Amino acid sequence: MEKRELLYEGKAKQVYATADPDLVIQHFKDDATAFNAQKRGTIGNKGVYNNAISAWLFRYLEEHGVPTHYVRTLGEREMLVRRLEIIPVEVVVRNIIAGSLAKRLGLAEGRELPRPILEHYYKNDALGDPLINPWHITVLGFASEGELDEINHRALRINELLRAFLEPRGLLLVDFKLEFGRHRGRVLLGDEISPDTCRFWDAATREKLDKDRFRFDLGNVEGAYAEVHRRICATA
Ligand code: UDP
Repeated sequence: MEKRELLYEGKAKQVYATADPDLVIQHFKDDATAFNAQKRGTIGNKGVYNNAISAWLFRYLEEHGVPTHYVRTLGEREMLVRRLEIIPVEVVVRNIIAGSLAKRLGLAEGRELPRPILEHYYKNDALGDPLINPWHITVLGFASEGELDEINHRALRINELLRAFLEPRGLLLVDFKLEFGRHRGRVLLGDEISPDTCRFWDAATREKLDKDRFRFDLGNVEGAYAEVHRRICATA
């Protein structure tokens, strides 16, 4: 698939056009940002790991009935995906208290929740992705009631599927962020599923194996991505 012009460049990815208007190429970079891009750096081979991890998880979700934008892997850092009209809502699912939930509500990190918490953030870098609720989403027209319902159900189903996949690989799925978009009248899962967008802890030691190692200078950042890659992609 021929790579054409750069359509979009984000913090961790680039999106290129192809000859087919329905398809684009998603290229994964090693660049990393945190705290609304106040902290910047690179993580060695992150793009390679995230491309492979995302591809593996998208294929797994598709096999279990979750429609995604993934079409096929093109190279070490690139996947062919369906072009989406992105819904400007980031959906976060939480199983264990961490990150902004711990901070905002003054809670200790690490407590397992009795059932998942679903949150929505308005996807807007200039505003720092503020927390919003279903009324904001539907009344302001970010998504219809039907789309929101579908997105919420899908997010919870994805959580169940990912937890079932990760458990035998010794990984706890603490929380994660999803993005959805419209493609030919359907809502598809988009973006990526990787240690950039998920918190993964080792189930035995609770060692952090995700972007928190970069956010909080915990060291061995690349090693954590490599370890998640090994556990997800090296076991069929
Ligand atoms: N997340 C993300 N992109 C964002 C914000 C959050 O991928 O712009 C992910 C993050 O990696 C974590 C989950 O969503 O797995 C919940 O993040 P949280 O709200 O705790 O925010 P954080 O403190 O990580 O910025």
